[in-house]
Amino acid sequence: RKMVGKLTTGCMEFDEMMGGGIETQAITELYGEFGSGKTQLAHQFAVNVQMDREHGGLNGSVIIIDTENTFRPERIAQMVKGLSEKYGMELDPEEFLQNIHVARAYNSNHQILLVDSATDLANELREMGKPVRLLIVDSLMAHFRAEYVGRGTLADRQQKLNKHMHGLLRFGDLFNACVVVTNQVMAKPDAFFGDPTRPVGGHVVGHTATFRLYLRKSKGDKRIIRLVDSPNLPEGEAVIAVTTAGLTD
Ligand code: ATP
Ligand code: MG
Repeated sequence: RKMVGKLTTGCMEFDEMMGGGIETQAITELYGEFGSGKTQLAHQFAVNVQMDREHGGLNGSVIIIDTENTFRPERIAQMVKGLSEKYGMELDPEEFLQNIHVARAYNSNHQILLVDSATDLANELREMGKPVRLLIVDSLMAHFRAEYVGRGTLADRQQKLNKHMHGLLRFGDLFNACVVVTNQVMAKPDAFFGDPTRPVGGHVVGHTATFRLYLRKSKGDKRIIRLVDSPNLPEGEAVIAVTTAGLTD
Protein backbone atom coordinates (compact mmCIF):
# COMPACT_ATOMS: atom_id res chain seq x y z
CA ARG A 1 0.00 0.00 0.00
CA LYS A 2 1.35 3.38 -1.07
CA MET A 3 1.47 6.27 1.37
CA VAL A 4 -1.73 8.31 1.43
CA GLY A 5 -1.36 11.76 -0.15
CA LYS A 6 -3.22 14.89 0.93
CA LEU A 7 -4.53 17.55 -1.40
CA THR A 8 -5.03 21.04 -0.04
CA THR A 9 -8.47 22.63 -0.29
CA GLY A 10 -6.81 26.04 -0.22
CA CYS A 11 -8.64 26.90 3.00
CA MET A 12 -6.99 26.56 6.39
CA GLU A 13 -10.02 25.58 8.45
CA PHE A 14 -11.16 23.12 5.81
CA ASP A 15 -7.71 21.51 5.54
CA GLU A 16 -7.49 21.23 9.33
CA MET A 17 -10.89 19.58 9.53
CA MET A 18 -9.72 17.05 6.93
CA GLY A 19 -6.51 16.30 8.80
CA GLY A 20 -4.43 18.08 6.17
CA GLY A 21 -6.53 17.84 3.04
CA ILE A 22 -8.45 15.56 0.71
CA GLU A 23 -6.95 12.06 0.88
CA THR A 24 -5.80 9.87 -1.95
CA GLN A 25 -6.99 6.24 -2.06
CA ALA A 26 -10.37 7.36 -0.78
CA ILE A 27 -13.70 8.60 -2.07
CA THR A 28 -14.70 12.03 -0.80
CA GLU A 29 -18.36 12.83 -1.32
CA LEU A 30 -19.54 16.44 -1.53
CA TYR A 31 -23.27 16.73 -1.03
CA GLY A 32 -25.65 19.62 -0.65
CA GLU A 33 -28.40 21.61 -2.31
CA PHE A 34 -28.13 23.22 -5.73
CA GLY A 35 -25.81 26.20 -5.60
CA SER A 36 -24.14 25.04 -2.38
CA GLY A 37 -20.75 24.94 -4.13
CA LYS A 38 -20.09 21.30 -5.01
CA THR A 39 -19.03 22.05 -8.56
CA GLN A 40 -16.97 25.01 -7.39
CA LEU A 41 -15.02 22.81 -4.98
CA ALA A 42 -14.49 20.26 -7.73
CA HIS A 43 -13.02 22.94 -10.02
CA GLN A 44 -10.75 24.22 -7.25
CA PHE A 45 -9.43 20.75 -6.45
CA ALA A 46 -8.70 20.25 -10.17
CA VAL A 47 -6.45 23.30 -9.99
CA ASN A 48 -4.86 22.64 -6.59
CA VAL A 49 -3.87 19.06 -7.39
CA GLN A 50 -1.58 20.31 -10.16
CA MET A 51 0.49 22.42 -7.79
CA ASP A 52 3.73 21.11 -6.33
CA ARG A 53 3.87 19.64 -2.85
CA GLU A 54 5.13 22.83 -1.22
CA HIS A 55 1.87 24.44 -2.30
CA GLY A 56 -0.32 21.60 -1.12
CA GLY A 57 -0.69 19.92 -4.50
CA LEU A 58 0.18 16.44 -5.71
CA ASN A 59 1.91 17.36 -8.99
CA GLY A 60 -0.86 15.53 -10.76
CA SER A 61 -3.30 15.71 -13.60
CA VAL A 62 -7.07 15.34 -13.40
CA ILE A 63 -9.89 13.37 -14.99
CA ILE A 64 -13.43 14.72 -14.70
CA ILE A 65 -16.50 12.67 -15.50
CA ASP A 66 -19.03 15.41 -16.15
CA THR A 67 -22.64 14.26 -16.15
CA GLU A 68 -24.40 17.63 -16.12
CA ASN A 69 -22.18 19.60 -18.46
CA THR A 70 -21.13 22.00 -15.73
CA PHE A 71 -17.36 22.02 -16.30
CA ARG A 72 -16.24 25.57 -17.18
CA PRO A 73 -12.70 26.20 -18.47
CA GLU A 74 -13.11 29.94 -17.78
CA ARG A 75 -13.68 29.12 -14.12
CA ILE A 76 -10.41 27.18 -14.03
CA ALA A 77 -8.63 30.19 -15.54
CA GLN A 78 -10.03 32.47 -12.82
CA MET A 79 -8.87 30.10 -10.12
CA VAL A 80 -5.39 29.78 -11.61
CA LYS A 81 -5.19 33.56 -11.65
CA GLY A 82 -6.30 33.51 -8.02
CA LEU A 83 -3.47 31.13 -7.09
CA SER A 84 -0.95 33.20 -9.10
CA GLU A 85 -1.84 36.17 -6.93
CA LYS A 86 -1.99 34.20 -3.69
CA TYR A 87 1.50 32.76 -4.14
CA GLY A 88 3.06 35.52 -6.26
CA MET A 89 3.85 33.01 -9.01
CA GLU A 90 3.33 33.12 -12.76
CA LEU A 91 0.96 30.27 -13.48
CA ASP A 92 -0.32 29.60 -16.99
CA PRO A 93 -4.06 28.77 -17.14
CA GLU A 94 -3.57 26.99 -20.47
CA GLU A 95 -1.14 24.56 -18.88
CA PHE A 96 -3.60 23.81 -16.11
CA LEU A 97 -6.39 23.24 -18.61
CA GLN A 98 -4.25 20.83 -20.59
CA ASN A 99 -3.94 18.63 -17.52
CA ILE A 100 -7.69 18.42 -16.96
CA HIS A 101 -9.29 15.68 -19.04
CA VAL A 102 -13.05 16.04 -19.19
CA ALA A 103 -15.39 13.31 -20.37
CA ARG A 104 -19.13 13.83 -20.73
CA ALA A 105 -21.24 10.94 -19.44
CA TYR A 106 -24.49 10.58 -21.37
CA ASN A 107 -26.19 8.02 -19.14
CA SER A 108 -25.43 5.89 -16.09
CA ASN A 109 -24.04 2.94 -18.07
CA HIS A 110 -21.77 5.28 -19.97
CA GLN A 111 -20.71 6.85 -16.68
CA ILE A 112 -19.65 3.44 -15.34
CA LEU A 113 -17.75 2.63 -18.55
CA LEU A 114 -15.92 5.95 -18.36
CA VAL A 115 -14.12 4.75 -15.23
CA ASP A 116 -12.51 2.05 -17.40
CA SER A 117 -11.54 4.67 -19.98
CA ALA A 118 -10.18 6.79 -17.15
CA THR A 119 -8.03 3.84 -16.07
CA ASP A 120 -6.60 3.46 -19.59
CA LEU A 121 -5.89 7.17 -19.81
CA ALA A 122 -4.31 7.24 -16.35
CA ASN A 123 -2.00 4.39 -17.35
CA GLU A 124 -0.89 6.36 -20.41
CA LEU A 125 -0.43 9.57 -18.45
CA ARG A 126 1.60 7.79 -15.81
CA GLU A 127 4.08 6.75 -18.49
CA MET A 128 4.21 10.33 -19.73
CA GLY A 129 5.09 11.58 -16.26
CA LYS A 130 1.69 13.22 -15.71
CA PRO A 131 0.13 10.88 -13.15
CA VAL A 132 -3.55 11.32 -12.49
CA ARG A 133 -3.99 12.25 -8.85
CA LEU A 134 -7.64 13.27 -8.94
CA LEU A 135 -10.76 11.72 -10.44
CA ILE A 136 -13.96 13.73 -10.17
CA VAL A 137 -17.52 12.54 -10.83
CA ASP A 138 -19.88 15.53 -10.96
CA SER A 139 -22.62 14.49 -10.39
CA LEU A 140 -22.56 10.90 -9.16
CA MET A 141 -26.32 10.34 -8.94
CA ALA A 142 -27.99 12.59 -11.53
CA HIS A 143 -28.24 9.94 -14.27
CA PHE A 144 -29.09 7.14 -11.86
CA ARG A 145 -31.88 9.22 -10.36
CA ALA A 146 -33.31 10.14 -13.74
CA GLU A 147 -33.15 6.63 -15.17
CA TYR A 148 -34.23 4.47 -12.26
CA VAL A 149 -37.62 5.72 -11.21
CA GLY A 150 -40.16 3.73 -9.29
CA ARG A 151 -39.81 1.18 -6.54
CA GLY A 152 -39.23 -1.86 -8.75
CA THR A 153 -35.99 -0.40 -10.09
CA LEU A 154 -34.21 0.20 -6.79
CA ALA A 155 -32.41 -3.14 -6.47
CA ASP A 156 -31.11 -2.88 -10.02
CA ARG A 157 -29.98 0.70 -9.45
CA GLN A 158 -28.17 -0.13 -6.22
CA GLN A 159 -26.38 -3.02 -7.86
CA LYS A 160 -25.14 -0.80 -10.71
CA LEU A 161 -24.20 1.91 -8.29
CA ASN A 162 -22.28 -0.54 -6.13
CA LYS A 163 -20.28 -1.64 -9.14
CA HIS A 164 -19.59 2.00 -10.01
CA MET A 165 -18.46 2.92 -6.50
CA HIS A 166 -16.09 -0.03 -6.37
CA GLY A 167 -14.68 0.94 -9.76
CA LEU A 168 -13.98 4.38 -8.34
CA LEU A 169 -12.34 2.99 -5.20
CA ARG A 170 -10.16 0.73 -7.31
CA PHE A 171 -9.08 3.71 -9.40
CA GLY A 172 -8.09 5.63 -6.28
CA ASP A 173 -6.01 2.72 -4.99
CA LEU A 174 -4.41 1.90 -8.32
CA PHE A 175 -3.21 5.45 -9.02
CA ASN A 176 -2.91 6.76 -5.47
CA ALA A 177 -5.48 9.34 -6.51
CA CYS A 178 -8.16 11.35 -4.75
CA VAL A 179 -11.66 10.47 -5.89
CA VAL A 180 -14.22 13.24 -5.41
CA VAL A 181 -17.90 12.74 -6.17
CA THR A 182 -20.75 15.23 -5.87
CA ASN A 183 -24.24 14.35 -4.76
CA GLN A 184 -27.51 16.12 -4.20
CA VAL A 185 -29.73 15.94 -1.15
CA MET A 186 -33.19 14.42 -1.03
CA ALA A 187 -36.01 16.50 -2.48
CA LYS A 188 -38.08 18.62 -0.14
CA PRO A 189 -41.12 16.38 0.54
CA ASP A 190 -38.87 13.92 2.28
CA ALA A 191 -37.42 16.66 4.41
CA PHE A 192 -40.68 17.20 6.25
CA PHE A 193 -40.61 13.77 7.85
CA GLY A 194 -37.02 12.75 7.68
CA ASP A 195 -33.57 14.25 7.73
CA PRO A 196 -33.43 17.02 5.12
CA THR A 197 -29.69 16.67 4.81
CA ARG A 198 -29.70 13.08 3.65
CA PRO A 199 -27.77 12.57 0.41
CA VAL A 200 -29.12 10.44 -2.43
CA GLY A 201 -27.83 6.95 -3.11
CA GLY A 202 -28.72 5.12 0.07
CA HIS A 203 -26.49 2.58 1.73
CA VAL A 204 -24.32 1.91 -1.27
CA VAL A 205 -22.95 5.43 -1.52
CA GLY A 206 -23.02 5.87 2.25
CA HIS A 207 -20.86 2.84 2.90
CA THR A 208 -18.43 3.28 0.03
CA ALA A 209 -17.67 6.97 0.39
CA THR A 210 -14.77 7.33 2.81
CA PHE A 211 -15.37 10.97 3.68
CA ARG A 212 -18.76 12.67 3.44
CA LEU A 213 -18.94 16.45 3.37
CA TYR A 214 -22.21 18.33 3.67
CA LEU A 215 -22.14 21.80 2.06
CA ARG A 216 -24.59 24.54 2.82
CA LYS A 217 -24.98 28.18 1.90
CA SER A 218 -24.33 30.87 4.45
CA LYS A 219 -24.17 34.65 4.25
CA GLY A 220 -23.03 36.04 0.88
CA ASP A 221 -20.22 34.00 -0.62
CA LYS A 222 -19.70 31.96 2.59
CA ARG A 223 -20.29 28.24 2.68
CA ILE A 224 -20.34 25.92 5.69
CA ILE A 225 -18.79 22.52 5.18
CA ARG A 226 -19.53 19.77 7.64
CA LEU A 227 -17.51 16.59 7.88
CA VAL A 228 -20.28 14.08 8.50
CA ASP A 229 -18.52 10.79 8.13
CA SER A 230 -14.88 9.83 8.35
CA PRO A 231 -12.98 6.71 9.42
CA ASN A 232 -10.38 8.56 11.47
CA LEU A 233 -11.37 12.20 12.03
CA PRO A 234 -13.80 13.87 14.41
CA GLU A 235 -16.94 15.48 12.99
CA GLY A 236 -16.52 19.17 12.45
CA GLU A 237 -17.40 22.26 10.49
CA ALA A 238 -15.38 24.71 8.46
CA VAL A 239 -16.39 28.01 6.90
CA ILE A 240 -15.05 28.91 3.47
CA ALA A 241 -15.81 31.56 0.86
CA VAL A 242 -16.42 30.95 -2.84
CA THR A 243 -14.98 34.00 -4.58
CA THR A 244 -14.04 34.81 -8.16
CA ALA A 245 -10.43 33.94 -7.30
CA GLY A 246 -11.59 30.56 -5.97
CA LEU A 247 -12.02 29.09 -2.50
CA THR A 248 -10.65 31.18 0.35
CA ASP A 249 -10.84 31.25 4.14
P1 ATP B 1 -25.86 21.94 -8.35
O1 ATP B 1 -26.47 20.97 -7.37
O2 ATP B 1 -26.88 22.73 -9.06
O3 ATP B 1 -24.87 21.28 -9.26
P2 ATP B 1 -23.56 23.06 -6.95
O4 ATP B 1 -23.54 22.68 -5.51
O5 ATP B 1 -22.68 22.33 -7.86
O6 ATP B 1 -25.07 23.04 -7.47
P3 ATP B 1 -22.06 25.33 -7.69
O7 ATP B 1 -22.30 25.39 -9.15
O8 ATP B 1 -20.78 24.76 -7.22
O9 ATP B 1 -23.28 24.61 -7.00
O10 ATP B 1 -22.18 26.77 -7.06
C1 ATP B 1 -22.71 27.86 -7.74
C2 ATP B 1 -22.39 29.10 -6.92
O11 ATP B 1 -20.97 29.32 -6.90
C3 ATP B 1 -22.97 30.36 -7.51
O12 ATP B 1 -24.27 30.57 -7.04
C4 ATP B 1 -22.01 31.40 -6.96
O13 ATP B 1 -22.36 31.72 -5.63
C5 ATP B 1 -20.68 30.69 -6.92
N1 ATP B 1 -19.87 31.01 -8.10
C6 ATP B 1 -19.89 30.38 -9.30
N2 ATP B 1 -19.04 30.97 -10.16
C7 ATP B 1 -18.48 31.98 -9.50
C8 ATP B 1 -17.53 32.99 -9.85
N3 ATP B 1 -16.99 33.04 -11.07
N4 ATP B 1 -17.18 33.89 -8.92
C9 ATP B 1 -17.73 33.83 -7.70
N5 ATP B 1 -18.62 32.92 -7.30
C10 ATP B 1 -19.00 32.00 -8.19
MG1 MG C 1 -22.94 21.31 -9.64
